[in-house]
This record gives sequence, C-alpha cells and structure tokens, in this order.
Amino acid sequence: MNSTSTCVAAVSYLPTIMTYITSVINQEPDTKQPAQLQDGEHFDFIVVGAGSAGCVVANRLSEVADWSVLLLEAGGEEPGRMDWAYKTQKQTTSCGGNECYWPRGKVLGGSSSINAMIYNRGNSHDYNHWAEKGNVGWSYEEVLPYFKKSENNIDPDIANNTKYHSVGGYLSVGRFPYEERNAKTIYEAFKEIGYDGIDFNTETHSGVMSVQATQENGERRSTNRAFLEPIRNTRRNLKVVTGVRVTKVLIHAENKTAYGVQYAFEGNRNATGKVFAKKEVIISAGTINSPQLLMLSGIGPKESLAPLGIPIIKDLKVGQNLQDHFTAPGVFFSLNEDARVMPSNEDILIDSLRYSFSRRDSPWASIAACKTVAKINSRYANKLIDNPDIQFIFTTKSSHDEMIMPFCYYDQIIVNPLILRPKSRGYLTINTTDPFSQPLIYPNYFKEPEDIDVILESYKVAVELGKTKALTDAGFKVNASFLPRREDFLSGTSPLWGPEAVYTLHHQSGTCKMGPKKDAAAIVDPQLKVHGVEGLRVADASIMPYITSGNTNAPCIMIGEKVSDIIKQAWGQ
Ligand SMILES: Cc1cc2nc3c(=O)[nH]c(=O)nc-3n(C[C@H](O)[C@H](O)[C@H](O)COP(=O)(O)OP(=O)(O)OC[C@H]3O[C@@H](n4cnc5c(N)ncnc54)[C@H](O)[C@@H]3O)c2cc1C
Repeated sequence: MNSTSTCVAAVSYLPTIMTYITSVINQEPDTKQPAQLQDGEHFDFIVVGAGSAGCVVANRLSEVADWSVLLLEAGGEEPGRMDWAYKTQKQTTSCGGNECYWPRGKVLGGSSSINAMIYNRGNSHDYNHWAEKGNVGWSYEEVLPYFKKSENNIDPDIANNTKYHSVGGYLSVGRFPYEERNAKTIYEAFKEIGYDGIDFNTETHSGVMSVQATQENGERRSTNRAFLEPIRNTRRNLKVVTGVRVTKVLIHAENKTAYGVQYAFEGNRNATGKVFAKKEVIISAGTINSPQLLMLSGIGPKESLAPLGIPIIKDLKVGQNLQDHFTAPGVFFSLNEDARVMPSNEDILIDSLRYSFSRRDSPWASIAACKTVAKINSRYANKLIDNPDIQFIFTTKSSHDEMIMPFCYYDQIIVNPLILRPKSRGYLTINTTDPFSQPLIYPNYFKEPEDIDVILESYKVAVELGKTKALTDAGFKVNASFLPRREDFLSGTSPLWGPEAVYTLHHQSGTCKMGPKKDAAAIVDPQLKVHGVEGLRVADASIMPYITSGNTNAPCIMIGEKVSDIIKQAWGQ
C-alpha cells in the first residue's frame, strides 16, 4: 500500500482512529485506589466535593500525617461522564426567554476538569474590596501568597516576575504550546487600538494577554491531576471515594455542631450511610450544590425550609447573592479562505497524530482564538484605579453545522464581552427535600439596567477592533448586523437575536457569601465557618462575596489553599 492509499484508508477510519488516539492521550494514570466507604467510619475531616477547591483542601489537610481525611465526590474518575447539566428556571431577560443550560463538572477535579483552562486570578482590587467589607485576611496582599503557593509557572518570562509568580507548586500553569495564528492576529489588533500586551495576573489589569492556562505540554491540569494524583496512592491518611453523593450534613440540634454526613451511592440511591467527622466537615460542592446541601441540612432561609418540613438549624440567606459572568455576543468575525481553519479530513487526522507526538505542532494543544484575552475599560469603569470592567473572550464556530468539529476548526470567531462586575444578582432555592432534585435557579441576567449599558459599550470596541489593519489584512470581516439593542435585553426574546443570545461563561459564584457577623447576608465568616454552626466550613466559588474580575478557577484554588492554612492554624498545626 503506498502512502496515499494508506492515508485514504486511514481517513475512512478517522472517527475510530481519533477515538483511539484520544483514549491513549487521556489514558488514566495507574494511580487509583479503589476506596470503599464503610457505613459508620470516622475521620478527622470530611471534605465534600473534589472540585477546584476540594482537591486542594484534601491535599493540604492530609499533609498532616496524624489527620485522617475523607474526600467524597459524586462524580467518577477523570475523564468520565462529567456534567451535572443544570437547567435554570425560564428567564425573561436572557436565554431567549428559555431555561439557561449550566454545565458543571461532576467528576474528580469538578469544573476544573471541564473548563477552558484559562488561568486568571481576577483583579487585585477584588480582594481589597472583600477585605474592606470586613473580610479580614482576604486583601490582595494576603491572598497573593496562596496563588503562588499552588503555582508551577512553566513560562520563564512570566515566572521570573517572582513578586507575583512562582515555580515548584502542584499546579502547572503556562501558555499553550501551539501558536494559534488567529489568536495572535487578535492580539495584534488590540495593540493597534491602544492596548498593551500584559500579564494580567499581576497588578496590571488593562490590556491584552496571550493567556496562561492550567496545562502542561498541551494537557489539562485539573485539580485532580495536579493535587490528588501525585499523593493519592502514597498518603495512607487520605481516602478518596467517588460515586457518592452527600445528601445531608449531620448537625447536633442542641449545640449546633456538625459531626458527619449522610450519603447515598450514585449508582444505587437506596444504598445510604453515614460517616463521622471528629474535627470538621468542609463543603466544597460548588456554587449550586453547596447551598443546596446546606439547605437540605437545615441551614437556609426559614421561609424556604419550614414549608418543606426541614428543621431549622440556622436561618441564613443561603442561595442568595448568585453572581455570574454572562455575555451577549453581538459581533462576530467571518473569516476568508486564508484565515479560516477548516482543514480536510486528512489534515485533521494528521493534527491528531501530531498531538500524540509533538504538541507544539498540533492545534489540538490549544484553545484556538480563546488564547487571546483582553480586559478593557468602558466609560463606566473607575479610571482612578486599574480595574477594567469588560473582558473579551473569543470563541469559535464552524458554519458547517452538520459536522461536529473540535473547536480548533472554525470559520467564524464570536466576540464574547463579559461584564466583569455585574450588578445583577440571582438566587437559587429548593422546593423539595429530595437531594437528587435540581435546585431552582434564577440567574436574573441583565436584571439591572446598568449591566445593559456596559455591554452596549463593549460592542463599540468590538466593531473598532474589526476595522483594524491587523484583522482586515488577515482576512477577518466584522459582522455586526445582529448587534443587540437595549430593547433586546429588556424583552430577552428578540427573534433577530436567537435563543442563545445571552448565555453564561460559567463563573457562577456567591451563594454562600463570606462576610462578618454584622453582614446580614453572610453565610460564612472570614474563616469560612458557617455563622452560628460549629465544625462546618464552606470553601469554593460560593463563598465569594463579590465575583472576581476574571475567570474563577484560579480564585477557587486560592480559596482552597487559604482555608487549609486557616484550618491548620485553628487546630494548632
Ligand atoms: C464549561 C466551563 C468552562 C469554564 N472555563 C473556565 C476557564 O477557562 N477558566 C477559569 O478560571 N474558570 C473557568 N470555569 C469556571 C471554573 O472552572 C469554576 O469556577 C471552578 O471550577 C469552580 O470550583 P468549585 O470548587 O467552586 O466547584 P467545582 O469545581 O464545580 O467542584 C464541586 C465538586 O463537588 C462535587 N459535588 C457536588 N455536590 C456534591 C455532593 N452532594 N456530594 C459529593 N460531591 C458533590 C461535584 O461533582 C464537583 O466535583 C469554567 C467552568 C465551566 C463549567
């Protein structure tokens, strides 16, 4: 068989070959411990949820050899079936009047195993703002060491800036090995309209960046890969159990002290049990599940829990303060022959083979145009400080709808402006005591008119970008014919605009708000202890009092690092 016929034969087997290669690439390292859970077991600490924060907490607490730590995860091993696939309640000002789809990771690593890997700490002012609101210990200066503690920065030009970065931590962070030409073009276009190339994970925030990601050599570094796999087989005091849903935190009604959790197996929901915590229970189940679990356990708004017959342990505003980064993409770029990335089947096969041998040469080792991220100031941003209010993310789309393409192959680029500090707040609640029911989620995107004003501003910048020499020379054509107007946001259902017009960029946070005792909306204190309850903390995206000004994975990892130190200090370690 000559080389051409080999290739043709190979192309007809393309799906099979790609599946094989992907499975080899994703092969699970042989590090698993088939841990079994025994009803009635005792541990010093029980961590609920092995996501971005939970894996870090389990790792750091089990550094203390005398402590026994149990990590319970509802999902399975990574990779595997992965998505909680939440649906919100129908919205009037977003999602085309429909439910919004909210994916969340249900797997070891949680949402860090399914996210877009962008490493973005937010803005230094975010944390100073948290501290100003009474959250002692959470100023930028105080959280920076925890970002650095996790970090293994693999790009020397960035790692050399040791005030902000470090090497040697569990989490590898670096630029993708594959150089994406359209991402580079967008980067140049931002420079042309006056934005500097920056590292926004410092105290310079306005500008454009070729992002760093939670990856190494083109492979994802979920918190499972980074924080659990290196220690899972070696630390006898850490037990990781998957496929187990925590259904209730056990709390003594008299002294309001948590003493364990109740669980059910995902594979057999009738098989239930209890495990006990000698010291503490830490809930790291994420922005949707952490408040749901608290409410099922009697911690939540009395008016929601009492009608369900749930005995009240503590009346707190659990589930309120829901924040998110949402977008309404009004502008997109169509790409001409030169710019589009729509290879033949043969080339896709070659790319897949390249990925298994040399990451540097394969677009599979990248996130396409998403590699370039810019943070800019609308006219509503406070110009006295460097605190941009819009972030641009560039997603890709193939006009060949009938084909399922990896997103590195595309002929359109969608400009997604995120409002970094939205005024709109949503909430979630429960209407059943069934722990397997989804909570009722109300995102309320664009409920506050100020958010509409900010996003309308962002389209002007997107259109200006489309007119740059960099983009026009490269074959980008700006298409703004569907530019949403104010009315579209108010009705949410413009037929011109399509049902997916407003959607989430997946940074839900805030539903177990951190705040001092005097803050009536706070659920946890600055030590992340649930107000009025002993032995119970929450540590994940839900504790953010205000959403960070960027993607939320790195902040969740920082929260996991910081709470671990708080716990160690509290127990004299
Ligand atoms: C599609 C997508 C793309 C994203 N892209 C980016 C990005 O590029 N960069 C970025 O910084 N951020 C991104 N994010 C956001 C970021 O990943 C999340 O904010 C972050 O991972 C949340 O961490 P967490 O610890 O709060 O929760 P999670 O990581 O979601 O972890 C919660 C864990 O708890 C488990 N769990 C829940 N309930 C129970 C229960 N009752 N019993 C046992 N286990 C339970 C879950 O299965 C899960 O493993 C993205 C998110 C998504 C979904």
